[in-house]
Amino acid sequence: MQSLESSLKSEQDLRIQNIIMDRLSKVDPLTELYNHKTFHEYLGWLIEHQQSNPFPMQLAVLDIDNFKKVNDQYGHWVGDIVLRQVAGIVLKHIGADDFAARYGGEEFVVILTAKPLEDSRRIMTQILHGIAALPVAEMDGNSVTVSIGMHDYAGTDSKSSTFQQADDALYEAKKTGKNKIVVA
Ligand code: GH3
Ligand code: MG
Ligand code: MG
Repeated sequence: MQSLESSLKSEQDLRIQNIIMDRLSKVDPLTELYNHKTFHEYLGWLIEHQQSNPFPMQLAVLDIDNFKKVNDQYGHWVGDIVLRQVAGIVLKHIGADDFAARYGGEEFVVILTAKPLEDSRRIMTQILHGIAALPVAEMDGNSVTVSIGMHDYAGTDSKSSTFQQADDALYEAKKTGKNKIVVA
């Protein structure tokens, strides 16, 4: 009886451990958004489903402006706080049909589905303004800005061309003054 109990207990421990490991492999530990790998898996899955059952979808790539300066001026630990605050604003504005991940460094991605471009652009604009208006206590109350590139998915795009077009739009936003959204 005792050995049955203890084997059930270790089975349960294993299941819990698996759930924790599964979460660790999908989530970015600093911001608790999904990570790079999960983003690629999910975007691939969505694009596969577009073939049989098309739906509106946009990809937004978001990059914090002049982030190196934040680290240089206030320290890396403050940079980390900023990353968490930015993630918080993104999560606050996206809906149940949307997905946010930390792509890497100070770059984030948002996949918006089931609504027209204009609705998604409105959400991303709220994020842009929300971040610019959010004072960071550890930065003497100053805030950061972000630049955003967006691409409206058109039925035939591959995963890499979808990403490339959003990334090109981000590059354009950076080149033309930052703290703005460019749609491509
Ligand atoms: P731009 O406006 O053109 O995007 O300039 P930038 O300074 O934001 O871009 P750059 O690529 O020159 O610098 C990005 C910085 O982000 C450099 C790197 O140290 C910092 N960074 C990347 N990952 C992390 C992180 O996890 N924590 C902190 N604190 N800094 C990070
Ligand atoms: Mg960058
Ligand atoms: Mg940057």
